[in-house]
Amino acid sequence: MIRLTGIHKHFGANHVLRGVDLDVARGAVTALIGPSGSGKSTLLRCFNLLEMPEAGRLELEGLAIDFGIGRPPPKADILAVRRSTGMIFQNFQLFPHRTVVANVMEGLVTVSRWPTEKARARAMELLAKVGMDHKAEDWPATLSGGQQQRVAIARALAASPKLLLCDEPTSALDPALAAEVVEVLRALAREGTTMLMATHDLRLAAQVAQEVVFIEGGGVVERGAPGQVFGAPSDPRTVRFVESLT
Ligand code: ATP
Ligand code: MG
Repeated sequence: MIRLTGIHKHFGANHVLRGVDLDVARGAVTALIGPSGSGKSTLLRCFNLLEMPEAGRLELEGLAIDFGIGRPPPKADILAVRRSTGMIFQNFQLFPHRTVVANVMEGLVTVSRWPTEKARARAMELLAKVGMDHKAEDWPATLSGGQQQRVAIARALAASPKLLLCDEPTSALDPALAAEVVEVLRALAREGTTMLMATHDLRLAAQVAQEVVFIEGGGVVERGAPGQVFGAPSDPRTVRFVESLT
């Protein structure tokens, strides 16, 4: 089970998440759409606890953490959540002073305490999977944006996360480079990687996701198959949003 229940989050007076319930289907891709500022990134970050919810519950494959019960969640549980999730960002966020392969190995060596050679072998395997093994010894700055994002995907997959969080993975890329990244994400989806992806790109959502979730006003407004949410939305707020994008 991968699920957030009753999640609340404020930033100052801004009540961004107002009791959000969201479960993520295992082995499938869920796309999260909604207006700018609706809380997509915040919600994604509640799944790996980069944001700490004020109330609610996170369940992640056997782990359950309750928030707002008068004491902070156990550190060990927070670490376990971090290790069970991988994340990729709009602007890649590779370590600029490490080579491509060192970027992918980093977490395995420092967090998971793998021996260097084992971590390197795993990193090379993942780089091959995203078509970047030929650039293993290069510096991130010498790569195109699409190549950097593919390396970031390899890095996010290094510790075999149960959930891959993708925050606008293609929105910093021009169409040709975005297409490379979409290809990699589609291949991962075919292999049954569980993904939750915030995106403004309806085409990406329609191509990769089995389910689309529309959030607005601090909660989930509507969810369903891409064809339904984009083609025949039932809530007037979804209708308005989809019309504004097309
Ligand atoms: P976008 O489509 O522009 O990426 P989003 O749906 O991802 O938007 P969030 O980034 O989650 O939206 O932001 C939701 C709201 O919370 C916004 O009003 C934003 O200004 C606010 N917010 C997000 N992070 C912080 C923060 N660290 N401090 C203060 N306010 C924040
Ligand atoms: Mg965002």
